[in-house]
Amino acid sequence: MAYSLISRKEWGARDYRCATLLSHPVPNVFIHHAASGVYGVHPFEDDAAQVRAIQNYHMGSRGWCDAAYSFAIAPSGRVFVLRGWDRQPGATRGWNHKSVAVCFLGDYNQQSPTTAALNACRWLIHDKGKGLGKVANDAKVLGHRDVGSTACPGNNLYDALPLLRKPLAKPKQFVVVKGERKTKRLSLKKALAKVREWAKKLRKGKVIRLRRVR
Ligand SMILES: [Zn+2]
Repeated sequence: MAYSLISRKEWGARDYRCATLLSHPVPNVFIHHAASGVYGVHPFEDDAAQVRAIQNYHMGSRGWCDAAYSFAIAPSGRVFVLRGWDRQPGATRGWNHKSVAVCFLGDYNQQSPTTAALNACRWLIHDKGKGLGKVANDAKVLGHRDVGSTACPGNNLYDALPLLRKPLAKPKQFVVVKGERKTKRLSLKKALAKVREWAKKLRKGKVIRLRRVR
């Protein structure tokens, strides 16, 4: 699965009214849930409408600068940019100046998080956040309830926090070697294709080796 960030422009965000910048890297990532009913895997347009509804509620009824969260993750695994990495979230009272806030769409007292959403969150925190220097390498990944009197992010998502603390496994990589010739790092699929290609014109006494590399 390839992950990507869905920009504010792509989901049709309103402009934000005000902002306070974060200093990086942040030492905390807080996990929230939207808690506006059970929400499953839906097409892009439905996910985008959910995110717009959160923004409208936070900017309208609540009168806030913008949707409160840094990012939202749909059960489909889509990751939406709300305040993003650089603006303080407004979702975790007392901690907004030193955290990013990730909201899972759905209600995790009533439903379980999907593998797609959990893995997208791991990618967001560890590959993107740490990779870009926005999140500290030793950052804590916590639930909203760890620092506030709230059920957020729901029992089922709270139980998944140990998994969210772990980076995604890196895909295994291989090189194919024949005598002096050697490929660059390849996925297993591409490496096997190369073995088949080279095997077609393999001379007697020569060997092709497939090596796993770290
Ligand atoms: Zn929350």
